[in-house]
Amino acid sequence: MSGQAHEKHDSLWIGGRRVRSAGDEVIEVVSPSTEEVVGRVPAANPEDVDAAVDAARHTLTDRDGWSCWPSGRRAEVLDRVADALSGRGVEMADLVSRQNGIPVGLTRRAEAMNPAFLMRYYADLIRTVDEEERRPGMYGGVTIVRRDPVGVVAIIGPWNMPQTLLAFRLAPALAAGCSVIVKPSPQTVLDAYLLAEILHDAGVPGGVVSVVPGGAEVGGYLVRHPGVDAVAFTGSTAAGRRVARDCAERFRPVTLELGGRSAALILDDADLGACLPALLPAALGGNGELCFLSSRILVPAARYAEFTEAITQAVASLVIGDPLDERTTVGPLISAGHRDRVESYIARGAAGSGRMTTGGRRPDGFDRGWYLQPTVFADVDPADPLFRDEIFGPVLTLTAYPDEARALRMANDSAYGLAGIVLTADPDRGLRLARDVHTGTIGVNWYLPDLTAPFGGVKSSGLGRELGPAGLANYQQVKSIYLAA
Ligand code: NAD
Repeated sequence: MSGQAHEKHDSLWIGGRRVRSAGDEVIEVVSPSTEEVVGRVPAANPEDVDAAVDAARHTLTDRDGWSCWPSGRRAEVLDRVADALSGRGVEMADLVSRQNGIPVGLTRRAEAMNPAFLMRYYADLIRTVDEEERRPGMYGGVTIVRRDPVGVVAIIGPWNMPQTLLAFRLAPALAAGCSVIVKPSPQTVLDAYLLAEILHDAGVPGGVVSVVPGGAEVGGYLVRHPGVDAVAFTGSTAAGRRVARDCAERFRPVTLELGGRSAALILDDADLGACLPALLPAALGGNGELCFLSSRILVPAARYAEFTEAITQAVASLVIGDPLDERTTVGPLISAGHRDRVESYIARGAAGSGRMTTGGRRPDGFDRGWYLQPTVFADVDPADPLFRDEIFGPVLTLTAYPDEARALRMANDSAYGLAGIVLTADPDRGLRLARDVHTGTIGVNWYLPDLTAPFGGVKSSGLGRELGPAGLANYQQVKSIYLAA
């Protein structure tokens, strides 16, 4: 196991400055691979959140503040942020892996690169899209349609891809001229500190971004705060439901990116060799702890034995290990409690409709860390919770289907609808089927979110879309001004 550095922060980042917390509670970040404390930060309390909201509101009322800057000036700062994020990308990715156990093979591609890409993308977008559009008025005269910043945005995030998911919201919110309060997951708070430092050094003015570390209580206080204008939430469906209720009571705009349990549809013409390299990352990437995984694998009955054997072998040959080791393909789960939860599904699966073909145990040779063997269950009945629930761990289920119509019904028979993948030798056939799957995003012969296209879920997977131009619109308030003829 690699040695773990220990990071200690004594202050909070409020309004772009280091400030002592009003309270004395501390959050400890624990490494999932060594079970050692790798960092300590102060927990924000309500007074700290009030100070962050005050700082954010002040920048909105200041006539020389961030929200009043011409877009081109904001874009220059975002480009500098992007350069700094690129320069420290590997450092950021490794810091994330140290906290959440997701292998660096993935975080160095995603967490190291996506945030910089998004800062540049939205910088370019605001350079090309006018904030004000003049249209001929219906009754003569002119109608002006303005896009103002929505105001103070609360961004609440999970621990699994903290920087990428934060950048989905932070980049467009900053581009739109909003001020932002970030409430990271307490399990991955150290990377939020690194980000705050990068934003500060790149010249994001004081007041514009604050970080308030804490759990559900701090998150709830922030969501309900009268000084917050909009909320962007990423996390579980259960927490999202509470956030949605809090926002509904206040008519507060909210985007919700929630849980998922997506389907992989293998069609009867799929080439086994070509299919597996696309299927495995889409079904089991990031230790099985990614929201968009297609871990309900639907297999044509005529080729069931062949695919079950191949998927079992591929999963059994994954490399379990230290998340900071580039050779590792499966790291430890986020916490002891979460591993218990995933194990309870494995126990229920073993007692239920499924037949375990590999995995199911804690791996040998690891006396520390919340490791779990990647596991495959074949013959899983679509009524079984093993098929239906979001397990959020390295567990795949295989279910045979007799024909394409039944496969589509099984894919759509879910409370969730976030992602999906169709695997076929005929991309046109794959596209026809993809159109009929009830989901927010889906891939044909591969799956990776396109950071320039809308991303989000249907049903219990969420509300609204982030990314692309639609992502910028989430952080803008549209206003019409009618000029008399
Ligand atoms: P979680 O819901 O427990 O927590 C997410 C964040 O919300 C944390 O910062 C938490 O402190 C905060 N929070 C919890 N309750 C809150 C409340 N009532 N009010 C305000 N804030 C509250 O989720 P998690 O365990 O951190 O993350 C895993 C979950 O996130 C999975 O369900 C996964 O599918 C989902 N997720 C979804 C997406 C997506 O884009 N759809 C992306 C990543 C993760």
